[in-house]
Amino acid sequence: MNGTSGERFNLANELKIIPKAMVGAAILVFFGMQALLLLVAFRRDMHAPPVAIQSLLALLAGSLLAVVVLLIGYVNRDAKRRGMNSVLWTVLVIFVPNAIGYIIYFVVRDPIRSPCPQCGTIVTPGFNFCPKCKFNLHPACPQCHRAIEVGATFCPYCSAELKS
Ligand SMILES: [Zn+2]
Ligand SMILES: [Zn+2]
Repeated sequence: MNGTSGERFNLANELKIIPKAMVGAAILVFFGMQALLLLVAFRRDMHAPPVAIQSLLALLAGSLLAVVVLLIGYVNRDAKRRGMNSVLWTVLVIFVPNAIGYIIYFVVRDPIRSPCPQCGTIVTPGFNFCPKCKFNLHPACPQCHRAIEVGATFCPYCSAELKS
């Protein structure tokens, strides 16, 4: 299929869109949290838990914050490639508490837009024809009326010859 049947989620590909600066920031936040908790916060706390628990808590807190930083970077880039207001959404996910901003974002986000194969105009998914050059984005076989791939020479279902 030609990507017409919706998006396939691929974690590795999704992670690739996170800006490098945000990955760096996440790593800094992770180690910063270890230092803050282990070297400062627990040292001053008279009732601090045993060292093993301290390390575990620091690891957990550090990872959690690092994930939040990565998600901020992800939402920023993801909103942009979907033609949404990336600044607005980035601010929203940062400031709406309890991750509710993220939940709203992932529920309401628009589908990824793809360019028209003929003229390159970014086309909203679901369109049958390119609004700019009238390119048929979802061609069907004239004989059996099944959806076929753009640029196919023969219908793969009934072998009818197709004019492009
Ligand atoms: Zn076009
Ligand atoms: Zn056919």
